[in-house]
Amino acid sequence: MTTGGDVPTMATVTIWNEYRHEREDEAVTAVYPDGIHETLADALADDHDVTTATFDEPEHGLTADVLERTDVLLWWGHEAHDEVSESVVDRVHQRVLEGMGLIVLHSGHYAKVFKRLMGTTCSLQYREDGATERLWVVDPGHPIADGLEESIELPRTEMYGEPFDVPEPDRLVFVSWFEGGEVFRSGCCYRRGSGRIFYFRPGHETYPIYEHDAVRRVVRNAVEWARPTDGAPRTFGERE
Ligand code: ZN
Repeated sequence: MTTGGDVPTMATVTIWNEYRHEREDEAVTAVYPDGIHETLADALADDHDVTTATFDEPEHGLTADVLERTDVLLWWGHEAHDEVSESVVDRVHQRVLEGMGLIVLHSGHYAKVFKRLMGTTCSLQYREDGATERLWVVDPGHPIADGLEESIELPRTEMYGEPFDVPEPDRLVFVSWFEGGEVFRSGCCYRRGSGRIFYFRPGHETYPIYEHDAVRRVVRNAVEWARPTDGAPRTFGERE
């Protein structure tokens, strides 16, 4: 939250992780022994007020109180998208419209709340082959690209390919090239209501993507970009 003056306090970040693969699949446990949420928390802990929430907590850990004090919500999910409760989706959706930032990671493209915010299927092509990905910064002046080189190389990834069925992004920050020849819009910025949304592709659970310095830098930059600003009141309905 900003304090009303010009000096912003630390952003309050909630990292939501489904947290199933890490507990069910040894290959994933080996990469993320404490869960993807803890690795992301480690990337943000120095200069953010970070809490984590997971699917199995009551209300998936996303109570009204938690969301009310969240400036930016990160979302990682994959196998349990359909089991996420509609009331929690409603609550997250409403908070985004009110100004909460939302960063949707990797397989979160199929999260109920992301599909609702986009209004499209959010479908894509994929291939899990552990081949190289190069993310090109296509908007070098964008704050989410601060401090990066002109591209980020990830030696082993799952491929996502176009067409990616999302609305045209307001700004496109990254385009990925894959060894197999496919390309993908990997860093997409949107506004919905007063909220800023960033979709960021990397993060397949069997590769240590969130340990990569440049990826962690992108996540930190995206949190700063997605923070709510004071703005003006959202007042609707009949006027006297
Ligand atoms: Zn994946």
